[in-house]
Amino acid sequence: MRYISTRGSTVSLSFEDVLLTGLAHDGGLYIPEKWLPVSSEEIRDMASMNYMECAYNIMRGYIEEQCIGNENLNSLINDTYAIFDNSDVAPLIKLNENTFLLELFHGPTLAFKDFALQFLGRMFEHVLAKRDLRITIVGATSGDTGSAAIEACRGRDNLDIFMLHPAGRISEVQRHQMTTVNEKNVHNIAIKGTFDDCQDLVKGMFNDELFRKNVNLSAVNSINWARVLAQIVYYFISAIKIGAPDQATTFVVPTGNFGNVYAGYGAYQMGLRNTELVVASNQNDILTRFFRSGDMSISAVRPSLSPSMDIQISSNFERLLFDLLDRDGASVSLAMKEFRETGTLPDGERLRSAAGTLFSSFSVTDKETLEEINYTHQKNGMLVDPHTAVGLSVARKFVSQNNQRVILATAHPAKFPDAVFQATGVSPELPHHLSDLFDRKEKFITLANDLSSVQAYVNDNIKSSQ
Ligand SMILES: *Cc1c(COP(=O)(O)O)cnc(C)c1O
Repeated sequence: MRYISTRGSTVSLSFEDVLLTGLAHDGGLYIPEKWLPVSSEEIRDMASMNYMECAYNIMRGYIEEQCIGNENLNSLINDTYAIFDNSDVAPLIKLNENTFLLELFHGPTLAFKDFALQFLGRMFEHVLAKRDLRITIVGATSGDTGSAAIEACRGRDNLDIFMLHPAGRISEVQRHQMTTVNEKNVHNIAIKGTFDDCQDLVKGMFNDELFRKNVNLSAVNSINWARVLAQIVYYFISAIKIGAPDQATTFVVPTGNFGNVYAGYGAYQMGLRNTELVVASNQNDILTRFFRSGDMSISAVRPSLSPSMDIQISSNFERLLFDLLDRDGASVSLAMKEFRETGTLPDGERLRSAAGTLFSSFSVTDKETLEEINYTHQKNGMLVDPHTAVGLSVARKFVSQNNQRVILATAHPAKFPDAVFQATGVSPELPHHLSDLFDRKEKFITLANDLSSVQAYVNDNIKSSQ
């Protein structure tokens, strides 16, 4: 399989190069030259497979064997998902006659990002060893991504990870999940500033060509193609469990950067035809406005109870845009330029109609989110996290029950205990493997919001595990 950029101007790359490159040099995102078809018969065959076998079947064709051979890919996938604390990996829970919850929070950091990042961390280690390369990963986090990335990279050969978070501005659970990881290659930096300051510092490091080259800078952000690939799997598995390809499925996906729901689009393109995708948003409703009327215009981010969805520019949307613009990279490039400059995506109505009926989108407020957490607790005796509650609320209010509905549960309730407590008066318990989280010793350094201090710290601390 070869990969092309959504902005069309660079040559095609192998999976291995795409894995290491992340963002294309023309500013675009990588996508496979074509989707690999899965026939109805193959979908039926997958019904008797476990999660790992399905994952192997779906992913194998996208990764050339020179990158990783069959045996090694198989054991890498097995290692990745064996650490999840549920033998189904992504268990599907029936809520009522035609509503299911797909629990994607059984990985080490209790959010769906583990599905992709645990795979990515292991792929990185494999490829770096093969190439005898050492890299430095830097990232900025306001919560979920940081802990999932750290957990994916901890103790791995050939890489160091430096994660910046805004000092005093992330939740206790999230900070402890990052700072209690005691590994020589994991470096947490609290920045005296905001999340935006952290992001600017990361950008500053990438823009410093000399520094970038000296430390072999890399990122594990949500635009990496390997992350999308790993997420396609659970769309197939859950749809098959409720009767695909014969039974239609509507997926309701709590959405921020559009990475998760784009993986659903990938599953559809590969052959999961009987599918509808519902983009569920919180009060930051730019995607809802687009899918409703073609209006994709940026406004200020308004912090909500579902912070991992507090996003205005959904980076992975560009992958869909490429298809909506008839896979013409030059048009994508122009549209994105105008979007950045004016804050509005040009030609929105035409693009909206090009997306057809596959997608719809709805948004709910924080108040509705709390009500839904409470409703689910009353009705099903379950605690759900605020991101999942956005999906549940959207499903209950707006999504017809003609199809089977699958709501993606993207985080464990104990990751967001304050909102859950506020809604129900009950404090969700951390799962067993994290029950002593608050007793573990924290390790992080606090630095000023100053690029050269951060760079000096990175320089002094890389290769510390050698
Ligand atoms: C990241 C995240 C989301 C949003 O997923 P995207 O792929 O960015 O759309 C939703 N819920 C939780 C809990 C997350 O961590």
